Amino acid sequence: MDIAPLDSWIPGSRRPVLISGPCSAESEEQVLQIARELLPLGINLYRAGIWKPRTRPGAFEGIGEVGLRWLQTMKQETGLKACVEVANAHHVELCLEAGIDVLWVGARSTVNPFTVQEIADAVKGVDIPVMVKNPVNPDLNLWIGAIERIHNAGITKLAAIHRGFSSYEKIKYRNRPMWEIPIELRRIFPNLPVFCDPSHITGKREYLQEVAQKAYDLDFDGLMLESHCNPDKALSDNEQQITPTNLALLMGKLIVRRRNTDDEQFNTTLEQMRALIDQQDEELVRILRERMTVVEQIGHIKQEQNITILQPERWNEIFNTRTDWAKKHNLSEDLVLRIFQLIHQESIRKQTEVMRNNEKQDIRNAI
Ligand code: PEP
Ligand code: MN
Repeated sequence: MDIAPLDSWIPGSRRPVLISGPCSAESEEQVLQIARELLPLGINLYRAGIWKPRTRPGAFEGIGEVGLRWLQTMKQETGLKACVEVANAHHVELCLEAGIDVLWVGARSTVNPFTVQEIADAVKGVDIPVMVKNPVNPDLNLWIGAIERIHNAGITKLAAIHRGFSSYEKIKYRNRPMWEIPIELRRIFPNLPVFCDPSHITGKREYLQEVAQKAYDLDFDGLMLESHCNPDKALSDNEQQITPTNLALLMGKLIVRRRNTDDEQFNTTLEQMRALIDQQDEELVRILRERMTVVEQIGHIKQEQNITILQPERWNEIFNTRTDWAKKHNLSEDLVLRIFQLIHQESIRKQTEVMRNNEKQDIRNAI
């Protein structure tokens, strides 16, 4: 994918970027007041929801078109750039007319390829940056698909926003971060800027700091954090918004880590340690290969004796002994179990393959 560098649309951005503003534009005064208070923080983009995708009807569904005019006034007064969520072609049209600088596709739109395509068609031929939030469900391909649709419409000023994944189970945060998904996205598209949205991940202001720090530790390109002058009275997402003053405090506490250093001693030590890890990983793979060879041999003798592939008592024994070994060697039991679940699944798959092949051969021999 041809992705424009971040500073081509967020000029002079000192990495990491900061996007802030209210969940929703509520009044002209609210939009302006928040912007005035955010200005000294040096934010890179001002956000405000104009059309709000609410899960249940009856909640505040956004102020609508009039809010775009407030954002125009805000831009004139402060010089800040504005970004808005768009969920259909009409929203795109109105935002373009109003001179909104950056658009974003929300989590509930990313799940729907028809919606994303409609938005993509509406931005075709326009030089506007588009940010794509992850879909509400943990489906990396859906996220990638949405980014590709926008890219295919000719947009190269692109970014992804990680806002977590919804979960039926009660969890600490509003949405599960599942950091491995944005990490994999970055592996696939190393040039794609990825921002983190701790507000929608946590749903609660007390957890914003830890999630923002985690994003910095994982080398995200920036943060989107909701702010409001009177968060408790906000018409949407009131529990997760913070005042610009508290946002400044939060940002002040964040530790920004470097991507690399010229320190020779550090670089040499790191290289040596990585060489050691490379050897250990190769050893792990070699041992796995040996284990699979034994698994295949067992598959052959089980097939000869017509014995089931799964033997629950053996799996139980593996489960218990490996947990004990994890404890003995001071490793996370959960990690060891998850690894053995995967290995066991693969062993079953391998033995099934061995049995099917042998049986096909038996049939062939019989005819
Ligand atoms: C928002 O940013 O206000 C929003 C609705 O977010 P999401 O699409 O992540 O739920
Ligand atoms: Mn919100």
